[in-house]
Amino acid sequence: MRNIIFLVAIVISGLISPFIIASESKPGSNTDAHHDTATTITSASEGLKKLIEGNNEFVKSHTPDDFKNIISAQHPFLTIISCSDSRVHTNEFSFDPIDKIFAIRVIGNQFIVGEGSVDYGIHHLHTPILLILGHTHCGAVKAAMSNYSAESNFIISELDHLHIPISLDDHKGDIETRWNKNVERNVDYQVRLAVNSYSDVVKTGKLTVIGAVYDLTNLYGKGNGRMVITNINNEKDVAAIRNHKAFEHISTDIKNVSVARVTSK
Ligand SMILES: [Zn+2]
Repeated sequence: MRNIIFLVAIVISGLISPFIIASESKPGSNTDAHHDTATTITSASEGLKKLIEGNNEFVKSHTPDDFKNIISAQHPFLTIISCSDSRVHTNEFSFDPIDKIFAIRVIGNQFIVGEGSVDYGIHHLHTPILLILGHTHCGAVKAAMSNYSAESNFIISELDHLHIPISLDDHKGDIETRWNKNVERNVDYQVRLAVNSYSDVVKTGKLTVIGAVYDLTNLYGKGNGRMVITNINNEKDVAAIRNHKAFEHISTDIKNVSVARVTSK
């Protein structure tokens, strides 16, 4: 099993109802004018053409040597649980994710829904980091804040897991403010579940669980597209996070733009 390239991507965004899609969008909120969006593709034939042409470009730009070291095994340093949302991808890290990122994607970046896959990343691939990456304007979190009883059974089942972090909502402020805080609370909750599950490995220092929010909206004021770290091994104090030993190679300036919170610890 270890020697099999085993990239797991639970891509279930196709299951997301129009309700959730609608809740993630607002007029004029094109996430990045520099990216072509899939919204102009409405047919399978157009979509397949784009997929095949894109893959053809990839094949042409690589040689057999590029695959030599990854044919028999994978060597990721990061296990990531992120939302299935099409606006959130690993290319936001600006490095080639191949053989570096073991990815699990589920709506609402939920640990419990992809637990078996996460176990593989931690116990078999031994990645030193488990990153739980939420994002601003997460439709799953917003849906979980509302009455979602009309959704399909499967969507209801997945959104039900968000009940605990959403229960911390103090109902103060407008819907946008509450939504933003609940995204962060959900990341905290998922980090807590993961730290509980892997406490032995975390205690030895061989695993660090990092919670972060991919900031589409520049909520944190650190720039659109910033990965804002909000939690490390259950630590939620901003100063304490910045002092964590995992930050030993990070400059003070970068720490200041990379660590923040909108909720108190
Ligand atoms: Zn989301």
